[in-house]
Amino acid sequence: MLLVEDERSISEPFSHALEREGFLPIVVETAADARDALAEHEPDIVLLDLMLPDADGRDLARELRAASDVPLIMLTARATHTDRIVGLELGADDYVVKPFVVAEVIARIRAVLRRGRGRATRPASLSCADVTVDLAAHRAWRGEQELSLTRKEFDLLARLLRDPGHVVTREDLMSDVWDENWFGSTKTLDVHLAALRRKLDDDPASPHYIQTVRGVGYRFVLSEDRRS
Ligand code: CA
Repeated sequence: MLLVEDERSISEPFSHALEREGFLPIVVETAADARDALAEHEPDIVLLDLMLPDADGRDLARELRAASDVPLIMLTARATHTDRIVGLELGADDYVVKPFVVAEVIARIRAVLRRGRGRATRPASLSCADVTVDLAAHRAWRGEQELSLTRKEFDLLARLLRDPGHVVTREDLMSDVWDENWFGSTKTLDVHLAALRRKLDDDPASPHYIQTVRGVGYRFVLSEDRRS
């Protein structure tokens, strides 16, 4: 994995989070170093900032695409529709608008790697049972019904859906959804989770989708384990 990002306030916490998730990011800050690293390491995926000190990231993306079909995710502070389209037209597999939620970017990295090589223009999504989240569009559905979620509720759901059937610890949820500079009360997590459950479940008194694992964390329940 190659991370091309000149802002250390972004690349340092982000690369540490990637390492915790089992990735081995090589971090470079310029287009020149990115070219050297690409030649030397043959990364399995490239995360590319759009605004670099020595080049426009779009030019580097074009170069990269001319030479290889390595999966590419653009990191951009620009959020206009045109920029997103341009990013995808350059052959990026996905794009992330800064400031980003680390858990969401990691979910997109996994989705892009799962899709494998080859250009896909569909936005990354996660689903389990009848619940689906579209990470690029920030929308979620249960069956045909779209859920009206706050940003934190959405991030929590996306994080749990990344590991369906597995317990996600409270610490992981806090650090992934609230970032690692979180020093507040974990009560906040419970409040947002309760709100998410109310929107997700028909009967919040006996939660079907999200199970509390006492003293550990929460788990998105696979349909075969769900109480009916
Ligand atoms: Ca930059």
